[in-house]
Amino acid sequence: MADTTDRRRVLLAAPRGYCAGVDRAVIAVERALEQYGAPIYVRHEIVHNKYVVATLERKGAIFVEETAEVPEGEIVIFSAHGVAPAVRQEAERGRLATIDATCPLVTKVHKEAVRFAEADYDILLIGHEGHEEVIGTSGEAPDHITLVDGPEDVANVQVRDPEKVVWLSQTTLSVDETMETVDALKGRFPLLVSPPSDDICYATQNRQTAIKRVAADADLVLVVGSRNSSNSARMVEVALGAGARAAHLVDNAGEIDEAWLEGVGTVGLSSGASVPEVLVDEVLEWLAARGFADVEVVQPMREHIQFSLPKELRRDLRAEAAAKVAAASAAPGASADGS
Ligand code: SF4
Repeated sequence: MADTTDRRRVLLAAPRGYCAGVDRAVIAVERALEQYGAPIYVRHEIVHNKYVVATLERKGAIFVEETAEVPEGEIVIFSAHGVAPAVRQEAERGRLATIDATCPLVTKVHKEAVRFAEADYDILLIGHEGHEEVIGTSGEAPDHITLVDGPEDVANVQVRDPEKVVWLSQTTLSVDETMETVDALKGRFPLLVSPPSDDICYATQNRQTAIKRVAADADLVLVVGSRNSSNSARMVEVALGAGARAAHLVDNAGEIDEAWLEGVGTVGLSSGASVPEVLVDEVLEWLAARGFADVEVVQPMREHIQFSLPKELRRDLRAEAAAKVAAASAAPGASADGS
């Protein structure tokens, strides 16, 4: 039998790492720190990544569990995962200034939930119990939403009217497992309505498609991401399902066990949607030092999506820019036409 370690290579999946929602949320905290000065409070981890959170903490962000911990009059940023209306009301009562960094694709699911609840549907929300996004979405219509945590949960679902039921989902699930859950739900509720467009976001879907391609040819798959990152954890499951002999989630190169490389010729590598590229670079360096310097990019699609900054921040940045222009034109020596 051929020695699989004769040729050592890395298949680097793309797209990987930061999605548009994470990029926007992280930049929002950075710009808020520049604009208003430290400290800036952030409710929950702005994105589920230890490195990102620690970096922002060093710059002056303070992460809190609840808005009640934020002193009156201070600024609090809501994380990319979204919040329930009750959290916004609590912030208002505490006289906090808020910046909403909820990903627009999560907001889309919130709006769907509100619309179907207003039409008096029972909403079956496919997602993981306790995940912040699920808590936020459920809070939009608590009397109408039932959480369905995977196909095995379907038998327990109770609805008021089986002819008026819709399913929605968390944005960061495994596409294949979600469709299994939907099929099982349709078996129980044949008139189940589907969401108007995919709730699992483009970034989650693209990262899963890319890791599947890589995993099919890999002896070992490494996914860089934190344990509490749903989309990163799903990528490990998807890689195993797609044929990888082994797959591991690591926060950084320091967490890789050298023993995992035994008998390995091809390493597949990717990262979750909340992971900065510097952490992938470190893993590539770590692998190169162990003979895996040959890197081949596997890119089934490209991404071009970008989101604008939260509106509260854009408003203040615009006001500041306008004030600077006004001050410059009022300065002695400035001419009416600005020349
Ligand atoms: S993973 Fe998807 S839903 Fe979550 S922040 Fe990124 S783009 Fe938005």
